[in-house]
Amino acid sequence: MRLVLFDCDGTLVDSQVMIVSSMTRAFESAGLAAPPREEILSIVGLSLPIAIARLAGHRPGASVETLVEAYKASFADLRNSTLHREPLYPGARETVEALAGRPDTLLGIVTGKSRRGVDAILAHTGLGDAFAVVRTADDAPSKPHPGMVLDAIAAVGADARRTVVIGDTTYDVEMALAAGTRAVGVTWGYHHRADLAAAGADRIVERFDEVAIAVDDLIGPGET
Ligand SMILES: [Mg+2]
Repeated sequence: MRLVLFDCDGTLVDSQVMIVSSMTRAFESAGLAAPPREEILSIVGLSLPIAIARLAGHRPGASVETLVEAYKASFADLRNSTLHREPLYPGARETVEALAGRPDTLLGIVTGKSRRGVDAILAHTGLGDAFAVVRTADDAPSKPHPGMVLDAIAAVGADARRTVVIGDTTYDVEMALAAGTRAVGVTWGYHHRADLAAAGADRIVERFDEVAIAVDDLIGPGET
């Protein structure tokens, strides 16, 4: 059995508008200058308290707890409004459906997003049935801790040696390698190609239709 674990933000869906807007609002509501967009995008993938602690670290007077609550409230407001926008990347649906249809392959999601956030995305994309296992910031320590991956492997009875993590950040790559799985870095998300390579990604892909090929290369083809 092969297991292919996808990161969510920056890998399956482009949530940067939502994340940058919510973070900006959270900082402004606390009377603080919002971090620059590039800095906000660099922490996407970490669990929220850790991400916000990093952003707030050098801003005096910032309470991480207050900012986390403000971010969550702001994100929920946006999600429930007409401004909600977390589109799948081009080719994501086709690749997920094709891989999920292979009898020897299970799919999962490993993400720093909340369970509620992932559920909303699976509901609006209709892809919920494609994923056998979902592990979120609510279930495990923040990436790059390998717990999320190890837990997903155990939940479906897979094997780390036939598991690949697909992600857009160095946190995904470090998590995958720490769990003993292979790692595919994707360049359409929020970290730079050179950083993914330096973190030790086994393959780096630039388009979604290269993902299935990279998976076959790394852990062998499933039954088709
Ligand atoms: Mg990501």
